[in-house]
Formats: sequence, C-alpha cells, structure tokens
Amino acid sequence: MKTEPIQNYKYIFGPVPSRRLGTSLGIDIMPYKTCTLNCVYCECGKTTNLTTDIKEYVPIEDVKKEIASYLASDKNIDYITFSGSGEPTLHSKIGEIVNFLKDNYPQYKIALLTNGTLFYNEAVINGVINADVIIPSLDAASEKILKKINRPHSLLNINKIIEGLVLLRKKFKGKLLLEVFIIPEINDNKEELKKIKDAAALIKPDRIQVNTLDRPGTEADIEPMDKASIEKIAKYLNNAEFISNNKRGGKNYFNNDTENNKEKILSAIKRRPCTIEDIIKFTGIKKEEAEKIINELQERNKIKITKLERGVFFH
Ligand code: SF4
Repeated sequence: MKTEPIQNYKYIFGPVPSRRLGTSLGIDIMPYKTCTLNCVYCECGKTTNLTTDIKEYVPIEDVKKEIASYLASDKNIDYITFSGSGEPTLHSKIGEIVNFLKDNYPQYKIALLTNGTLFYNEAVINGVINADVIIPSLDAASEKILKKINRPHSLLNINKIIEGLVLLRKKFKGKLLLEVFIIPEINDNKEELKKIKDAAALIKPDRIQVNTLDRPGTEADIEPMDKASIEKIAKYLNNAEFISNNKRGGKNYFNNDTENNKEKILSAIKRRPCTIEDIIKFTGIKKEEAEKIINELQERNKIKITKLERGVFFH
C-alpha cells in the first residue's frame, strides 16, 4: 500500500503502556459511542448508539492508510490492539484489518479487547480468528446482573453471550483471557460468583483476569472494590490474575515536541480518563512539562477533572 504521512490520526492512538499487553498501539474502528452494551463502569461515557447491527462503521481503507502511514518505519511496540470507544466486533470488516496486519506487519502481535457479546455469530469469530490474544469480558452470568451492570441491547441475553464465548474458545487457537469486572454489592456475592465460575468452566479461557474500577466510569455511584476482597475473589475464580495498575508496563515513543505531546495526551484521555502519572507514562515527558500542558488544556476547557481515591483524573 502507498504510504503517505498523516499528521493527525483518527483511528489509531498511542502507543500506550497497557496493563496486559506491554506497549500497545490502539486501533479504534468504531464511532463514539457505539456498543452492544451500556456498562455502568464504562470509561468512555454512556452508549449513545446501543446496537447489534454489524456494518462498516468507519471506512476500512482509511484505517489501513493510517496503519500503513504509522508503521512505515519500524516501531518498538508489542501489540496492535483493537479497543477504543465502542465494541470493535460490530465492525463488519474487522477481519480484513486483522488479515491486513498479519500479511503486512507480522512482527507485531494482535490483541482484541471485546465485550464478548457477538460471538454467537460465527462470522464474527471467523473475522478475528487470526488475532493472537482475545480478551472478552464476562461480568455476570445471570440475566439480572447482566442487566444491572452491562445494560445490554434487547436482542442479547446471558445464555446467548456465554454460548458465543464457548464457541469462540472451540474455534480460536490463540490466547483467550476472560476479564471479570467486579463491582461491590452487585456481582461480588457468592451466588453470582459461583455462576461466573461455572460459566468460565464451560468457556475454558487460558486465564481469568479480575478487574475493578480505577478511573471514573459512566455512573458516579459505582465504587472500586478494595484490594483484599478482590484478591479473595481472584483466588476463588480459579486463581485469576488481579489486573492492578502497577502491572502496567511499556515503553514510549513520543518525542519532546510540546504540540505533538498535546495531541497525544488529548488522544489518550479522549478514550480513557488518565491521572498525571498515566500521562507521564504515555508520553515519557517530564512531570513539569506534562503539568504545563494539562494546565493549558484546562484553561482552554479542553479537559475535565474528576477526583477519585486513586487520584485526579483528566478526561
Ligand atoms: S465498557 Fe466496553 S462494552 Fe461496556 S459500554 Fe463501554 S465500550 Fe461498551
């Protein structure tokens, strides 16, 4: 593909240090905020287009052009990851992008962060079958809790979702990590955890990972789980891994150009709220410089602030 330099990327972001994937270049192929779910903890805000319609939401040729431009020179990244501000498996041509990456950039691994709701449709599985890692979520195993946490589209139900994940595991030979997001007093009770454990026994992921709120979600009254309790839950769920913030790794490739860093910061916090520490990790710039940029963005009303126990988040 002919590569032309692109100044402002629309569909790719980062690279960002990821908790699980080292240094990860993000690909966001969904318009804000199009999803099959409307999770109470979503970092991107409320779902404005709750849908199960699979179609070409953004032009695949434009996505390929951005990838080719960014990867025209070798980049020191570990993963290229489908994630962002919606559910990527809703895009009808995700498979074409996966295969484009595999054919042209085999040196990078491909990861998919997904809510896991569409795998009852075998065409969706076939599209992502060549990824290296798939990380679907399963926060509930009963209809009641699914509705409470994930607030799904009316065409989805918990049996359909679990059956889809079982089918995915049967067909997908790469690494499958099942993520369970724990919310106090909603899905941390014995009954629901037992159901989730039973569902996981059917799905057979390589590993379960548990997670809890660490940055502002859609609903203000959603609380993070305390560390001791979540570690207990992780143990119960087949010695699951607790994905804590301090497991974030990665390198960075940003230079010290303030304008460039400003764009990168905006691009990162548009997709997920970040603390100043997150921003420093993403950009690699000195704290003073990061604070200067943040202050300027605040003065221009480009960003909002939310204070949580873990720190001050910019979004
Ligand atoms: S957390 Fe993920 S699955 Fe849930 S609403 Fe947000 S984008 Fe959709």
